[in-house]
Amino acid sequence: MNPLEIIKLPAPNEEGAVEVRLKARAVSRGVAIGKILCLHGTNRQFYRIDLEDSAVEPEIKRLRRAINLAKRQLVKIVSRKTGRISTSGPGIFESHRMLIEDSSLQSKFEKEITGQKINAEWAIKLVSDSYVALYKAIENEHLRDRYIDIEDVSERILTALNGGSSSQIAAANGAIIAARELKPSTLVELADDNPLALITENGGWTSHTFILAREMNWPAVTGVKKILRRVKTGDHVIVDGYNGQIILNPAAETLERYSADAAARSHGEHMSEGDPPAGPVTTLDGREIRIFANSDTPSGYNKAKRLGAQGIGLYRSEFLFNRFRGFPSESEQFDAYQAIARAAGKEGVKIRTFDLGAEQLSDQNAAKEKNPALGLRAVRLGLAYKNLLRTQLRALLRASYGQRIDIVIPMVSGVSEVVAVKQILEHERQQLTAKGKNVGTLRVGAMIEVPSAVFMVKELVEETDFLCLGTNDLIQYLLAADRDNEAVAGWFRTLHPAVLRSIRSVLDAANKASKSVIVCGEMAGSPYYVPVLLGLGATELSMNVHSLSNVRKIVSGIALEEAGELTERLRHSRTVEEIEETVSDHVRTHWVHLFPPEFPIASEL
Ligand code: PEP
Ligand code: MG
Repeated sequence: MNPLEIIKLPAPNEEGAVEVRLKARAVSRGVAIGKILCLHGTNRQFYRIDLEDSAVEPEIKRLRRAINLAKRQLVKIVSRKTGRISTSGPGIFESHRMLIEDSSLQSKFEKEITGQKINAEWAIKLVSDSYVALYKAIENEHLRDRYIDIEDVSERILTALNGGSSSQIAAANGAIIAARELKPSTLVELADDNPLALITENGGWTSHTFILAREMNWPAVTGVKKILRRVKTGDHVIVDGYNGQIILNPAAETLERYSADAAARSHGEHMSEGDPPAGPVTTLDGREIRIFANSDTPSGYNKAKRLGAQGIGLYRSEFLFNRFRGFPSESEQFDAYQAIARAAGKEGVKIRTFDLGAEQLSDQNAAKEKNPALGLRAVRLGLAYKNLLRTQLRALLRASYGQRIDIVIPMVSGVSEVVAVKQILEHERQQLTAKGKNVGTLRVGAMIEVPSAVFMVKELVEETDFLCLGTNDLIQYLLAADRDNEAVAGWFRTLHPAVLRSIRSVLDAANKASKSVIVCGEMAGSPYYVPVLLGLGATELSMNVHSLSNVRKIVSGIALEEAGELTERLRHSRTVEEIEETVSDHVRTHWVHLFPPEFPIASEL
């Protein structure tokens, strides 16, 4: 999308409205000027819509249909569970069913829709919020905890409201979305409606939400405390995704300046996107660096290819869950893998097996994990629910016939997981062949993103065909700093000495064995970090489509020898602050042609 398209005509500062600037963290580049749309909720995200008189009756009917659907689901769950589990399970669902059938709850929802002329989602939120507040005030602990049932039932009706019917996020078209937190699945829903930008309270640079935002070219900022109390739907705002700023009620001169600025930047970016790809990229001293794209759709990769990508270095297969709103069947997976492999052609695609957590597979009422990032996710989940892994491996084996597909196993902590997956892969290959199906040859790689895998890298190199260095998770786990948690964003330090040492030892081990390592975390797409990666020995980088042009420029503008000298100096640094300072000094003094003064020093973007 050409960022010029997102610039709206300056809106006048309303009478008496004072311009307010809020500091935020830029997580996706660009500037957007428009009106806020507040998104509420943590599970499903929704907002208030004021209805025309004629829309009230259809909205009531929509609510009733959703309640009926939710009732049918609960009856099914109760009958399925009864007989198998005789303790609390059916009891909980039975009480949910009773709650849903309670006509007074339904009439309260309907009263809000008719009285306030609002959408069903908002009516449910108002009613459930008031019930939850009442219950939470009760002294008796047992009764007090009933608020959870109200929340669960509301959530079920909200889900049913959107089951099959068109997305209620349609009103997001041309709006700036403000939310406490946005889920990747919400972004996928928003994609059809092309919002202008995103503002959130929570979420890190490497969270999937912002990885997607960058892929979609939506400016985004995060870290704005109490965002939903500071803004309301309809507020005029400028989102500055370069400098990490939000300007509420912008004054006329601010609007003018930003509009001109955004147009100039968009022209610059547009020009660089249009540059003809110069084939393989080489450093000033002649070393070839291979550049790949992190792509999840054939159209995304086609664009990346025009910008010089030499294959797909990371296909996050779990994004299919968002597209299919659940577990995709073997044939749905086969079609998706075949399509992406065809788009990648002889350059090939590295498809990562599902990197999902247990909560994405289970019933929404299943017990939540306390530490999902350390829980049953990625390869652990695949080995715990082998049928899911087998289905995926079958789809991959079939899709690789005549195509170049490699598979990547996420979150391995040592050799055992790789051996286990390879055994299952071999078994599925034999079964398919015995049935006369065509299968291809899959090379198997491991993601290095857990600290123990760094220690076991020599053995992992022996057991695999190649490695992928997932710096997003590696930093999170090495430094014990949740990548999705804004509160610890200050501890998530890409240039921490422990991170650099780990990267170096992975690259050294693979180089020694002449195996390839693709660096595919966000670090690989950040112009500021790329010289450091090259200096540490990286020769293959995979990134978001919008990083390709900038990274190619950096690679071709520096000498590997100089990058190596820089990282050699960093070896002796004891603190992350020291490293950050050395790198920014070097950038300012030696590579100023690549990092012009307006480029924010130490920017991750
Ligand atoms: C990583 O962890 O660096 C990575 C590439 O994978 P993801 O961001 O999907 O966890
Ligand atoms: Mg990862």
